[in-house]
Amino acid sequence: MIFSILFLTSRFAYSFDYFFQGTDWPDLCNQGTKQTPIDIEADLTVKILSNEPEYSWIEFHMQELGLQANTDGGGYKFLGDFGSMTMYQGNLAIMSTKLVNFHFHSPSENYLNGSQFDLEMHVVMEDEAKIYSHAVFGVLFKVEEGAFNTFIDKVAKAYYGNMIITLAEAFTSLQVKNYLQFSGSLTTPPCTENVFWIIDTNVRKISPEQFNFFNRMWAGNEKFAGGNGNNRMIQPINDRTVTHFIGFANHFGYIGILLGFYLL
Ligand SMILES: [Zn+2]
Repeated sequence: MIFSILFLTSRFAYSFDYFFQGTDWPDLCNQGTKQTPIDIEADLTVKILSNEPEYSWIEFHMQELGLQANTDGGGYKFLGDFGSMTMYQGNLAIMSTKLVNFHFHSPSENYLNGSQFDLEMHVVMEDEAKIYSHAVFGVLFKVEEGAFNTFIDKVAKAYYGNMIITLAEAFTSLQVKNYLQFSGSLTTPPCTENVFWIIDTNVRKISPEQFNFFNRMWAGNEKFAGGNGNNRMIQPINDRTVTHFIGFANHFGYIGILLGFYLL
């Protein structure tokens, strides 16, 4: 009995690398039909506007933690009890999650309109109702001369020692109203499917120096997977739908306030 448990454990304790960008990963990674990452074409998304009943928005609750990066297995990962996410339709909570880790890929794993980005952060969550195996919130970053991201600055410094970090600093608002959503998988073995994916359409900017911190670890490092990044190759969308939630609530609210002042 003990022997078989050990055998099963080792059978599923995959080790993997990025020498072939994941094309050599076994089992579901190879045979799955709802795999991540994907290239999202804006024209092909189903759009749901904030005045439609299916429109859902997201609210995060975050806390500060003293953290040091975990650099095992070709990743750059932070583990902790970062907070929670609730998804709402109107005032009705339809999904609750617990944030369990965040980590980085460079270059990005997901593409938008055929374009890859310089860096992608994945905030991994557990679905409290266990309907989904996980939920992942993806944030894309691109390099811009003169940009500086204070969150990424702390994330890079945490390589050298404990840093007080809150994921809230990576967000412009803790309410996310514009995003892409699709059903996908983990992007590393065992590539488990039934993952609820959310990609924030707000692409953040980082400086060339901030990008270099990640690039030196992966795509710019000959010793890491022969010069590949730690991004898995994009996967077929197959018959999946990507939904683009477009929240105009703030704009309408703003116009409403302006009109209100005008009429007064
Ligand atoms: Zn990831």
